[in-house]
Amino acid sequence: MASTSGSTKAPTAVAFDSFFNIIGGERESGSSTFQAANPSTLAENPPAPLSSKDDVDRAIAAAKAALPVWAATPVAERQQAVIRLADALAAQTDDFATMLVKEQGKPLPIAKAEVANAVAVLKGVANLSFPAEQVIEDTPKRRISSRYVPIGVSVGIIPWNFPVILAATKIGPALVAGSPLILKPSPFTPYCNLKIAELAMQFLPPGVLQALSGDDNLGAWFTEHPGVAKVAFTGSTSTGKKVMQSCSKNLTRVTLELGGNDAAIICPDVDIQTVALHIAIKALLNSGQICIAVKRVYVHASIYDAFLATITAIAKSFPVADGFTEGAFIGPVQNAAQYKIVQDLMDDVAKNQFRVTTDGERPPLPEKGFFFNPMIVDNPPDDARIVQEEPFGPVFPVMKWTDEADVVRRANDSDVGLGASVWSNDIAAAERIGRQLEAGTVWINGHSELYPDAPFAGHKHSGIGAELGVQGIQSYCNVQTIAAYKQITPPEM
Ligand code: NAD
Repeated sequence: MASTSGSTKAPTAVAFDSFFNIIGGERESGSSTFQAANPSTLAENPPAPLSSKDDVDRAIAAAKAALPVWAATPVAERQQAVIRLADALAAQTDDFATMLVKEQGKPLPIAKAEVANAVAVLKGVANLSFPAEQVIEDTPKRRISSRYVPIGVSVGIIPWNFPVILAATKIGPALVAGSPLILKPSPFTPYCNLKIAELAMQFLPPGVLQALSGDDNLGAWFTEHPGVAKVAFTGSTSTGKKVMQSCSKNLTRVTLELGGNDAAIICPDVDIQTVALHIAIKALLNSGQICIAVKRVYVHASIYDAFLATITAIAKSFPVADGFTEGAFIGPVQNAAQYKIVQDLMDDVAKNQFRVTTDGERPPLPEKGFFFNPMIVDNPPDDARIVQEEPFGPVFPVMKWTDEADVVRRANDSDVGLGASVWSNDIAAAERIGRQLEAGTVWINGHSELYPDAPFAGHKHSGIGAELGVQGIQSYCNVQTIAAYKQITPPEM
């Protein structure tokens, strides 16, 4: 029986040969299964449970039963349980990273970094000071305080690009808040998410952290269910709108972390080689499939030609290969539908005869799998699809700017506002530009990083609410104000 009380027993590793739903503290094979594909080889990964509506009902019932137990567990014990889960995940980094390469496609060192970052997020959130009660007024007459009480059964819907870290950004805050969480992984990447919940069974009472895999129906079954108090969704803006619509029927609370089209503004005073390397990495890491990847690069006209030549040479030097190949930097995109989206945008670039700087001799791409060589587009017009749309693939435009107000306007000329960055040695100038950008996170001389202690949020169509930081924990709570009058006095008429 799992317990949160201070056992120092070493965690038992989970095996990666068979995969189970985790419902009410039990491993369940499911009445039927499905198999996702390895995007590098198109070989089938192992069977995973194809959950039914009944599985959803039972998981929600188990979470409901766990709620009073977990809510009554002191915050410090809940934090400790999250830290023990993080330690157990760290101890199995190699197993999780290997499975992550097989299900997501990313190169092994990047998969290991994702597991390490997930561990850091879990620990960072668990180490936050989370005052569950704040005193607003304490006078001889009255004491007014606000408390954060667990919101109840929560569901974390996860996309396929960073399944491990994006599960961690939900597990840490929900569990510290005292709310049970059900993980709903993408059908393309169910495996690591199921194993995280299985690993956590050792540290948590039954029903506190569960996971169910399944097909496209599964997410909707959760969002429309009256037993769910909160849905934390990460995915595309179009699906996010469907989630919000479905949740509106029961006024189920939502946090939405959606798509982005991050601009990076490069000022004339930077060291070109250093910044071009940063930008190439932040644009092409994970084959560009990062919500907060650099997706539009605005370079000052005075350094434009040199910058473009440098970043082109860097991008062309990145090896494209199966994630288990030594030195691979760009793996496949994750699935056939995403391959089609990226191909369509690349075709649009060709159709419009925009200049591509990355053409030329390249080693042949792996025969199977959803591989692309990186593509950089030279100064397309602002209304080009490659500028306006989120590719979520290894292709991005580089554009010229001369006037500060104009580049700010162009960077903000988007429905979405997830991240943005400004690169300059003049920090004051960079901050002046950065503070005008409409984005949930603005980096100066950086991009794509998350901080467990800072809220992560999207402006405009990039999302609603925030994950991480104390605000992220509070998002798994209801707020309650207690106004206590210290003496009963006659009413003032
Ligand atoms: P997606 O929207 O297709 O799927 C996300 C998840 O939603 C999956 O688990 C999917 O099974 C589930 N889902 C699908 N239809 C549903 C429905 N009707 N109701 C409930 N759930 C449903 O997204 P994706 O293609 O997996 O991920 C790529 C997108 O996610 C990109 O746009 C990217 O920018 C965005 N993303 C955003 C963040 C962020 O934090 N803001 C992080 C990563 C990815």
